[in-house]
Amino acid sequence: MNSIPRTIFEEEHDIFRDAVRRFCEEEIIPYHAQWEKEGQISREAWLKAGAMGFLCSSMPEEYGGAGADRRYSIILMEELARAGASGPGFSLHSEIVAPYILRYGSEEQKRKYLPKMAKGETIGAIAMTEPGTGSDLQGVKTTAIKDGNEYLINGSKTFITNGQMSDLVILVAKTDPSAGAKGTSLILVETGTDGYRKGKKLEKLGLKAQDTSELFFDDVRVPQTQLLGEEGQGFIYLMQELAWERLQVSIGAVANIEAVVDWTIDYTKERKAFGQTIMDFQNTKFKLAEAKTQAVVARTFVDKSIDLMLKGELDAETSAMGKWWTTDLQNKVIDECLQLFGGYGYMWEYPIARAYADARVQRIYAGTNEIMKDIISRKL
Ligand SMILES: Cc1cc2nc3c(=O)[nH]c(=O)nc-3n(C[C@H](O)[C@H](O)[C@H](O)COP(=O)(O)OP(=O)(O)OC[C@H]3O[C@@H](n4cnc5c(N)ncnc54)[C@H](O)[C@@H]3O)c2cc1C
Repeated sequence: MNSIPRTIFEEEHDIFRDAVRRFCEEEIIPYHAQWEKEGQISREAWLKAGAMGFLCSSMPEEYGGAGADRRYSIILMEELARAGASGPGFSLHSEIVAPYILRYGSEEQKRKYLPKMAKGETIGAIAMTEPGTGSDLQGVKTTAIKDGNEYLINGSKTFITNGQMSDLVILVAKTDPSAGAKGTSLILVETGTDGYRKGKKLEKLGLKAQDTSELFFDDVRVPQTQLLGEEGQGFIYLMQELAWERLQVSIGAVANIEAVVDWTIDYTKERKAFGQTIMDFQNTKFKLAEAKTQAVVARTFVDKSIDLMLKGELDAETSAMGKWWTTDLQNKVIDECLQLFGGYGYMWEYPIARAYADARVQRIYAGTNEIMKDIISRKL
């Protein structure tokens, strides 16, 4: 039952969705439990996703992408979220890291990195957060100081998605530590560069198959040609991409809410107590009626936001509204649905238990929900 039909996709997107769904069923879901134990997904999964054209699909063909509109990337995000497959950091790689290189990179940087990223041979990460600063990005302490033809980099980063597996990181550093936000620049650092070390794979409450790491930079030297865009513009570049990045979180949240509601309907129709199904209890019906309503309302807002984003009209405030509201809702709906599973809902082998653990961080990363409200309130 979908009372408000989706209108943002065309027929070719539906065909693509079928292929992505098959890919998730064959190449992701069967391995996910093992990846959770290993704390990261396999290289093969990246290469297979690349071979299928699922990575960097919105990059132009000349840089190895499919030149497709962002709806194809959105389908991949939705299908992974629907499957509860939180391990692959594909969307961060394809729709956050690669677009920075496309938008601000030199021709040489684009040719060097983007085709390999589209194939899954080079895995990308972005390192903003530091042990001492997350929400307040102006407080970044990592420095990249000009020294001859090079930058000399010192500092550390934490909570970096794809950190352990990444071959390339966009590093947020101060090239002029005295200039605050205006002294912030983005620098491309390759794994294997002397002095660049990866720390622990961090143990987390959820997202067990997603690699999240510390990164250390001790007297790392990179040529000045590794600067992304212009010096001192890093903060502005980061701000410009945020609406799309936050919308991606909302897209995952809503797809996950829809899946959770479906799982719960199926379960409660099967499970019996007191001579009837769990669904037969009025409490269950009302809880699921509420959850379904919330899913439809959230979906309508997010699809409209996607529509605006595709037209280049999604502003920071609307994107922030979607991010906090859908992720808060995701946590609420999962909690209510988990209750209807009884003890089984608490068992890791049940997707609802994983969804519960995975969803918590949605309110924290990509800008905390408090920061979202701050952004919205500035325009009131
Ligand atoms: C699984 C995971 C993956 C991540 N991936 C990445 C990644 O790939 N790259 C990356 O750079 N970072 C990543 N992060 C970091 C994430 O973006 C930060 O954790 C987040 O921005 C919050 O920063 P913080 O942890 O330093 O919290 P803090 O900034 O210390 O915030 C602590 C609390 O204070 C509140 N607070 C802070 N400022 C305000 C304010 N002005 N008004 C009201 N309340 C406020 C916050 O909302 C929060 O509740 C990831 C984090 C996690 C957990």
